[in-house]
This record gives sequence, C-alpha cells and structure tokens, in this order.
Amino acid sequence: MATQDKTKTLAPGITQTQINPYAMMLQQLDMVRELTDIPAGIWEILRRPEKSLEVSIPVTKDDGSVEVFTGYRVQYSSARGPCKGGIRFHPGVTLDEVKALAGWMTWKCAVVNIPYGGGKGGVICDPTRLTHGELERLTRRFTAAIFSLIGTRRDIPAPDVNTNSEIMNWIVDTAGLLSGEAVPGIVTGKSLEMGGALGRREATGRGIMFVTLSVLQRLGLDVTKTRIAVQGFGNVGSIAAQLLSKQGAKIVGLSDVSGAYHCPRGFDIDDVLRYVAGSPGHLLAGYNGHGVEEIKSPELLTLDVDVLVPAALEAQITAGNASGIRAKVIVEGANGPTTPEADLILGERDVMIVPDILSNAGGVVCSYFEWVQNIQCYPWEEDETNQRLGQIMQRSLNEVWSLAEKREISLRTAAFVLGVERVATAARLRGIFP
Ligand code: NAD
Repeated sequence: MATQDKTKTLAPGITQTQINPYAMMLQQLDMVRELTDIPAGIWEILRRPEKSLEVSIPVTKDDGSVEVFTGYRVQYSSARGPCKGGIRFHPGVTLDEVKALAGWMTWKCAVVNIPYGGGKGGVICDPTRLTHGELERLTRRFTAAIFSLIGTRRDIPAPDVNTNSEIMNWIVDTAGLLSGEAVPGIVTGKSLEMGGALGRREATGRGIMFVTLSVLQRLGLDVTKTRIAVQGFGNVGSIAAQLLSKQGAKIVGLSDVSGAYHCPRGFDIDDVLRYVAGSPGHLLAGYNGHGVEEIKSPELLTLDVDVLVPAALEAQITAGNASGIRAKVIVEGANGPTTPEADLILGERDVMIVPDILSNAGGVVCSYFEWVQNIQCYPWEEDETNQRLGQIMQRSLNEVWSLAEKREISLRTAAFVLGVERVATAARLRGIFP
C-alpha cells in the first residue's frame, strides 16, 4: 500500500490551493483522472453540480425586526439515485463550500455503494446568536424555499454542522404541511418519535470507530496502546472519541471551537461528555479534569499521537501545518479536512490517510437505513442497524484497501477512483437527454 501516489502531483495549472473547498474537491477529482478511462464528456458532467439554488430567507426576529439570511441547496449528481446530504448552519457557509460538500457526498455514497447521488445545503448564519424561536422560523422558511428541490425520491437532507434532530423534525413537519401528506423519508436524522432510526445519531462516529479498528489491525497496531487526538467535539468527534475510548484507545487530545486540551494519561470521555452537556453553548471551554492541560488550538493537530481524527471543518490540515503532524494515521471525520498540498506532504512522510469519503460514511449509510425504514414503514432494532453498518464499512474499506494495494496508490486516490468510476458508469448508462 502506498501512502504516496507516484503519479500524484497537483493538476496542471494549479500551483497552490486557494483554500476554497470547491477548488479542493476539483483538484482531488482531477488528480485521479489519468487513473480512470472515463470518457471526456462524462468527465465534464462529473466536474459540475447538476443544480445550485440560492435562496433568501427573511426571518422575523423576537424583537419584531426582520433579518434576511442566504441559504443554498446544491444537487451535485443524481446519476446513482436521489441526492443525499446534510444541511449546515454556519457563518462561513458559501456556495462553493456547499458545492464541494455536495460533490464529496456524491463520491462517498458511491464508495459505500448505496443508491444515492450527492447533495448538500447550508445557511449563512450563526445559530448561537439566534433564539430557539428564530432558529425554528429560519429552518421552516428555508425548508419552504428549497421545497421544490427536496423530496423522498428527489433529494433528502440530514444534519451537518450546527444542525440536529430537532431541526430535522421542523423540516419534516414543514415539508409535510406544504405537501399535504406525511413525508418522513424527506429527511434523515430525525428524532426517533418522528421516524428517526435507532443508531443514526452515533452512526458517523461508529463508522469511524470501525474503520480505525480495522486499519490498526491491518497495520499490526494494538488499539489499547494507541493514543488518539480528536479535533472537534460535536456529533462526529465526541462519539468517535467515546466509542474508540470504549475499545481501549487512549484519547489524549480534544478540541472544539472554544479551545484545545491535552491529557497524556487519557481523557475520561464520559466525564467530558457530562461537562459539555452542562456547559454554556455545550463547549469544552473551562474543562479541567484530572491531568488535563489547556493547549493552543493549532497544537492539537501536532500532538505526539498514533491516530489523528480531524472532525471539525474542512481545510484544517494544510501545507502550513502538515510537516508538523506526528500521527502515523489520520482518520478523516470531517469532510475535506486535508488540503491536496497537505496530502502530498503527508504522503511523502508515509502518514496514512483514511479519506473522508470512506471513513465518515457511517452517517450517510445509517441515513440510508432510516430512509429505507421510512419508505417501508418498518423500523429496525438498533443491533440490526449497527451490524449492517459494520458490514458496509468493512466491505467498503476492503474494496478501497485492495484497490490501493493493487494499483499502488493511496487510500484517498483509491476511494476517489472507486467512487468516481461508479458514478461515471451510472452517468454513461443513463445517456444524455435528449
Ligand atoms: P457539529 O456541529 O456537531 O460539531 C462540530 C464541532 O467542530 C464542534 O465541536 C465545534 O466546536 C468544532 N469546531 C468548529 N470549528 C473548529 C475549529 N476551528 N477547531 C476545532 N474545533 C472546531 O458537526 P458534526 O456533525 O460533528 O460535523 C463535523 C464534521 O463532520 C463536518 O465536516 C461535517 O460535514 C462532517 N460530517 C458529519 C456527519 C454527521 O453525521 N453529522 C457525517 C459525515 C461528515
């Protein structure tokens, strides 16, 4: 298995990443072009989103004033099935970010071979500055604005950064009112009482755990002697940390937007989770468990660990900090956390990267299970969900790993080749209308 791709250089004409996520996603795509025999016309289709919608979202604030927000829904590809992808509420949302995330969803659904295309949505807002009522009105008006695009067989949103099951419940309720019928399958990540799936909340973190354990085993490393740092302590990071710690790994670094913490003896993750549940804004700020010291946020990424799990936002590991990373393995929890330049630097240093479109796919796999249960009106037991999730993650890792070994390419390149070829095949079989 190569961590470094012999053929891999930045695509012609691109000398540095303007850290624009869409440029990053296209660079990753272009880097695998010569490894596939996808016809030029199909390749051009794959390099563009099918549809991008920008909407204005007027919201009446609690004080009676009106604020107008901007939101997006992008359908990158429906070649393999309905579009699928989360909705992000964040001040840094841009159309290019949503396009990139929708592209990554497309390749991810293909890598794990579930019958979806890729989509994504986002609203430029800071949810911490909105009251509960304002957040609900924003969500419902956004749902109405993108209602023409979404649908159980069209495009199915889910939670992403700063969105959760309550927000999904408002979406499903608003869509139901607008369509005049129950539409539980129009969104995933709902509360259980609203048709959500047992295990969905934990699924992305659980998928990361499955993949990490399997990679450690393949590398002959003992999980109980493994030190792990996790950047981001939200849905993905906190659950990955909790499940990996239950497997015996030592979680020695944690961070979120409020700060970073180091605990060489290993955090008591349940204690951290209790602290965060009761802290203002549900943040790590002020956590002072036994043996814990606060460090500067950038230091989290360069701690002396075996495994690094970036689970916050994109473009965190860059040409600026890649040479300082000491982890042997990076398991990407976030979407797009490593820039293509950082990828090259880490490859030269033999750092193995388990790419986002494989390692964080547990969430969308379980969303697929939720959608299947909604369509069939037949809920599953949690054990069944977790067992099937494990099977799909294991099968996908096996396929990517074998391809990487066979072609002497990195796991990221192998995952892209696998995913992109599957989407290209579907696009070719569909043909071009008219
Ligand atoms: P979340 O909102 O629950 O958590 C995000 C976390 O990142 C928070 O703890 C936040 O404080 C932290 N954070 C933000 N900026 C940071 C910074 N500069 N440094 C350190 N920490 C920072 O979001 P999430 O659902 O956990 O998503 C995290 C990442 O995982 C995103 O890239 C998302 O697209 C990706 N992802 C999420 C899912 C899912 O099922 N939720 C699935 C696949 C991928």
